[in-house]
Amino acid sequence: MTKRLFDTNVMQQCCTATVTACFPRKKGYGILLDQTVFFPESGGQLSDTGVLRTGETTWRVTHAAESDGDVIHEVDSPIPEGTQVEAVLDWTVRMDHMQQHCGEHLVSYAFWKLYGAHNIGFHMNPELVTIDFDKELSWEQAMEAERLANQHIEDNRPVTIQMATPEEAAKMHLRKFNDKITGPVRIVCVEGSDTCSCCGTHPPMTGMIGLVKIFKVERHRGGTRLTMLCGRLAMERIRHEMEAATQASNLLSVKEDDLPAGVTRLQEEIATLKQHLNERTEQLLAYRIEDIQKHPVYDAQGNQRITLFEDDMDAGEAKFLMKRLQELPKTIATLLYRHGDRLNYIVEVADDADADASAILRELNTRFGGKGGGKSHNAQGSAPYTDETKRKAKDYVQSGNE
Ligand SMILES: [Zn+2]
Repeated sequence: MTKRLFDTNVMQQCCTATVTACFPRKKGYGILLDQTVFFPESGGQLSDTGVLRTGETTWRVTHAAESDGDVIHEVDSPIPEGTQVEAVLDWTVRMDHMQQHCGEHLVSYAFWKLYGAHNIGFHMNPELVTIDFDKELSWEQAMEAERLANQHIEDNRPVTIQMATPEEAAKMHLRKFNDKITGPVRIVCVEGSDTCSCCGTHPPMTGMIGLVKIFKVERHRGGTRLTMLCGRLAMERIRHEMEAATQASNLLSVKEDDLPAGVTRLQEEIATLKQHLNERTEQLLAYRIEDIQKHPVYDAQGNQRITLFEDDMDAGEAKFLMKRLQELPKTIATLLYRHGDRLNYIVEVADDADADASAILRELNTRFGGKGGGKSHNAQGSAPYTDETKRKAKDYVQSGNE
C-alpha cells in the first residue's frame, strides 16, 4: 500500500521514494512507490502530473491511478525495482486542482445553504468545472451563491481534514454523506462553512482559492448545470474574455459596456442593407426579363424558349426570376445557375405551353450527371459544378438560344 503523503500534508511538492514494483501497462509502465506526493484521479478530482527522477534520468508521470490502496504512476519506460527516486509534482497543476475542488465545495455549500439545492454531479477538466444541482435555479440566484462563496474565500477560513467512523459522520450533519461507507470517513471541514466527506486535495486556507467565478447557468435534466472556474484558471478565462470584448469594442468603436447596443445596431444595419439589396436585385432581374423579351426564341410548336446561365446566384434570386418567367405566355424557361460548388437547374413550363418540365429535367440530369425531378410544369435538379459541367452549361444555353 502506497503511503499517501498528500493526506497529511497537501502542500508537500516532492518526496524521496523507493520503487517497489514496475510492470507494463497497455501504454507504457506502471510504477509503485513506497510513498508518494502524487494524488491519483478519483472522486471527480483529476490526477496530478510531474516527474520521477534519479541523478540525470527523468521519467514523466502523465497520470496517476488508484488501485487497491496503491498509487500507480504512469510513465513511458521502466524503472528497476529498488531504485531511489525523487517524486516531484507539477505544482501549478496541483494548485489548479485544489482551487477548483475547494471552490466547488464552497459553491455547493452556498447553493445548499441558500436554496436547499443538492450537488448531484461534479465534473472537472483542465478547461472548466461543471456542477449539477437537483433544482432549477436562476442566474440571479447563482450570483448570490457566488457572492457567498467568495465571501468565504475572502475570510480566509481554515480547511481541515478529520477522520470519523461512519456513525460519527452520520451525526455531523454533513452536506454530503454516503451512508453505504463502512470504513473510516474522511471529512473536509471549512470552518463555519462546508463540511463534507471527500477524498480530494484542498488548500489549508480558503484564501488560496483566490476567487470563484460562475460563467454559465443552464437548465439540465430538470435541474441546473453550472459552469465555473476558480483561482488561476478563472483569472485566465476572465482575461481571455476581456481581450475578446476589447477587440470587439475596438472593431465596433463602442465602449465594452455598450457592446450589446453596438451589435444590435449592426444587425439593424444589415437588415436594412439586405432589404435594399433585395429590391435592387429584383429591379435588375426585371430589366433582364425585359431584355430577354426583345429577342424571343420560338420552337416548332410556337412555345417561347428561354434558356439562361448564371455563374453566381442564390436560390432566392433564382426563384424570383423563374416566377416572373413562368408568368410569360407559352414560355418554357430553363435556368442553370451555380451556387457554391453546385450547378443547379430549374425548368418552368407555363400553363399554356406545350412541354413537360420533368422530361426536360431528365435530359439535363443525363447531360450534367446530376439528380432531381419534378412535375409537368416545374422541375429542378443539381449536379457538381466543375470545369466540364460549366462548359456544358454554356454550350447548352448557346444552343438553346439559336
Ligand atoms: Zn470534494
